[in-house]
Amino acid sequence: MRKYVFWILFLAIAVVLGVLLFPSKKAQMANTPVVLTSGYVPYTITQQLAGGNVSVQMLLPPGAEPHAFEPTPGALLTLKQAAAFIYVSDELEPWAADLAKAAGVQTRLVQLASTVPAGADPHIWMTFDNAKILAAQIAQVLEDIAPARKEIFEKNLAKFNREMDQLNSAFQTALARCRSRRVVHVGHLAFKNLADAYHLQLTALSGTSHEGEHSAKKLAQLIKQIKESNVSAIFTEDTLSPRLAQTVAQETGAQILPLYPVEHISKEDFNHNVTYAELMHRNLESLKRGLQCPAP
Ligand SMILES: [Zn+2]
Repeated sequence: MRKYVFWILFLAIAVVLGVLLFPSKKAQMANTPVVLTSGYVPYTITQQLAGGNVSVQMLLPPGAEPHAFEPTPGALLTLKQAAAFIYVSDELEPWAADLAKAAGVQTRLVQLASTVPAGADPHIWMTFDNAKILAAQIAQVLEDIAPARKEIFEKNLAKFNREMDQLNSAFQTALARCRSRRVVHVGHLAFKNLADAYHLQLTALSGTSHEGEHSAKKLAQLIKQIKESNVSAIFTEDTLSPRLAQTVAQETGAQILPLYPVEHISKEDFNHNVTYAELMHRNLESLKRGLQCPAP
């Protein structure tokens, strides 16, 4: 009998010590500040800089596109409980701007576009210089809400900046001497800033937002342009229906290659935590193949 009492006491003490020394994941997460992000651009950069020290959440579900998204009623509650809400811009995500207006005083609002020189294209993360500006802004937010982790955030920011510089050099070198400089994108105008940075000529089927369907006339013009020029590849976005690109490819014989605007993300890439840098590497591989750029 005594033996049983001993073991019961021993187990009880072990359980109490276990709870005290190793609080449950749920309890740990309850003390972790939450940063809510609008879509994949702020999400992936914040994740990379936070390195697991902040809980990062995204409103835009994987597979959805950001221009015309409508958040669920639950989004406001999530927003009010977050330490910060980071979104790209009122112009790119009008729904996020509306939501931000309804946030409580305890949620810090961060519109990333406010620190980037204004241009015609709202896809501001499509140059590496701008990506560094966005990351610096996000790192500052993280330092403010979790000051004890400042050193980690600064280290992660330095790493991110090095990646951006490496990507910039890779793009410059790889795209310097290509057989074609013409990027025909059977999607929306998300790559203007990128094309301008590396002196490529971009034609896109629709405008800077997904709203407003392209016209049949525009599609016919695009097909005519491809047939008349030395374009051997067309580009499309992975979350768009492949039907349009297939039509253009059948008409022109051009091969189809993917481009990733980063602002929306497939479920598969989301589940694999694919980073901004990885998506931009994929973009470079597609451009190199499609524009027939020789290896440096
Ligand atoms: Zn877009």
